[in-house]
Amino acid sequence: MKAAVLHNYDSDLRKKELLVYEDIDSPPEPGIGEVIVKIKAAGVCRTDLHIITGRDLGIPLAKLPFVLGHENAGEVYSIGEGVNNFIKGDKVLCYPFLTSGISTEERYGIDSHTLNRKTPGINVNGGFCELTKFSERSLIKVDQKASLTELAPLGDAGITAYGAVRKLMGFIRPQDRVLVIGIGGVGHLGIQLLLRLTPGEIIAVDPREEARNLANSLGITECYESLDQLDHFKALNGNGFRAVLDFFGESDIPNQAVGLLNNQGRYLAIGTGGEVRVSTAELVAREISIIGSFVGNFTDLVEVTNLTVRGDLISKVSTYPLNEVNRVLHDLRDGKILGRAVLVPN
Ligand SMILES: [Zn+2]
Repeated sequence: MKAAVLHNYDSDLRKKELLVYEDIDSPPEPGIGEVIVKIKAAGVCRTDLHIITGRDLGIPLAKLPFVLGHENAGEVYSIGEGVNNFIKGDKVLCYPFLTSGISTEERYGIDSHTLNRKTPGINVNGGFCELTKFSERSLIKVDQKASLTELAPLGDAGITAYGAVRKLMGFIRPQDRVLVIGIGGVGHLGIQLLLRLTPGEIIAVDPREEARNLANSLGITECYESLDQLDHFKALNGNGFRAVLDFFGESDIPNQAVGLLNNQGRYLAIGTGGEVRVSTAELVAREISIIGSFVGNFTDLVEVTNLTVRGDLISKVSTYPLNEVNRVLHDLRDGKILGRAVLVPN
């Protein structure tokens, strides 16, 4: 089968061929409880770029070479022994963690923090190919008429946005302001979930005009080009933000963002690459919280899927054939993708 394979890291993402589009062996017959999915759509995430740079993401990666792609949707191609809930041809959306369900964390539904979890596209072969192995437990059956290209990004972008917004439900009050940094593949879903699930006023920042226009079209009226334009929100006087969702997380943005929090505010890091530096004196005196937010739970995926299928969450995607993966990765690197790019096997 055809696949886009990572053979070598490239720390500055300058190589023309970041992934090699080539023939590899199809996965072996599915074992007990396993399902082979014929991939119809695979979202391209900024994490894919981070993986290609070889930088430390704080999570274990597969040994090279391997197939990227952790936002997958497709059709059931074959099922292993003991699989009862799916038949060949079912349309499915893939939860990114393959787990047994037995550990304490999994019993609480927190598969994202199970130590022995397998994540296609991260520590085992993913969905930038034609056939990928999942477990029955990791799949959501969707309507045969559902758009798999719109649903695929929910497998990471959707639940990451939801997982972050969930941490603020009940915390944001009607007169509070919430700042969203980055209106990209995850952020454009985050602003919509904030609008639907929290009562505050939402303000968004993105340097790209087309991303701000997208936010406007999704109901965010106040958008800025950079954090430097937010000085009029004087955080220490209580006119700042109850929460900041940082979908970017790089360079000095996190520190600037923490400075915009009201006392008792919460900074949520969702994007990665930068650092937060805050003195314990400030942490104590202002009672601010610095919170990391990593992906989400299976039930989060069910919820964002339902919201999307009924039209309450718009998953903005552009589709590309799988063999154009390198063009997509370069466009993502250069900030040229609006919403999410989704690869479709040729
Ligand atoms: Zn991702």
